[in-house]
Amino acid sequence: MRQKRAKTYRKLMSLYCLHFGFRQPYQVLVDSEMCKEAISSHLDLPKQLATVLQGNIKPMITQCCIHELYLQGRTQQPAVDLAKTFERRKCNHREAIPGDECLISVVGDTNKHRYVIATQSQPLRSKLRKIAGVPLIHINRSVVVLEPPSDATLEKKENEEEQALLVPETEKAKLPAAAPAEAPKKKRKGPKGPNPLSVKKKKTAGETGAPPAKRSHPSNSDPTKDTVGSKRKQEEADDHRDEPGTADGSSGHKRKRRRKHKQKDGNGGNEGDEEENND
Ligand SMILES: [Zn+2]
Repeated sequence: MRQKRAKTYRKLMSLYCLHFGFRQPYQVLVDSEMCKEAISSHLDLPKQLATVLQGNIKPMITQCCIHELYLQGRTQQPAVDLAKTFERRKCNHREAIPGDECLISVVGDTNKHRYVIATQSQPLRSKLRKIAGVPLIHINRSVVVLEPPSDATLEKKENEEEQALLVPETEKAKLPAAAPAEAPKKKRKGPKGPNPLSVKKKKTAGETGAPPAKRSHPSNSDPTKDTVGSKRKQEEADDHRDEPGTADGSSGHKRKRRRKHKQKDGNGGNEGDEEENND
């Protein structure tokens, strides 16, 4: 099989797996004409089916389809022998019906058992194209062909994809605050910082911010600048510490005064109580 065709088939089978729940081993229902065609074309049908579907397969045949082969007598013995190697699919048709009708009934309205149908019957294939998610295989000039997806299959797949796209949009509508929060983060992705040459001084200041690290490296290129900077910073820090300290002291005085007032008030209240008691 050519590489391009293999890629097309691989994509097609992944479509059936993703959107229609197909999984390996793929169950391939083979009809009687397919068995006959495989014999006359000298094809190793199970091997060819596995190559085309690009995975493990389980070839199957319905009771009605193998019955069709039995009816054709010994001339089709090789096809019967081939069909006998396939797993028999019980279709529960008490009296055998034509293979096409049997396969239609087995696939049903939705192909819920996920069969791949390998048939040489053109009328059957055109009927099965109206059901979404039915991979169709036939033999054309000794080549096993997997049909491109039917319109029904593509329609259902596109509907599913549209719904999948709609769901996240509605979720976004529910959470409008989340979307703008993400946008500015992306904008910040530009230059990560200012010109590194202009940052150099700030870097030295940052090192002074961590005094133990600076002491561990006393052999810096220009330690004088660092020490001066650190001294200035420490002095500033001390000033700041003094200011809040004085503020605390003033507030402390206020608290003391308030306490004194409270005591006076309490005394006054007691005096009033005493007066009331006297009455
Ligand atoms: Zn049947």
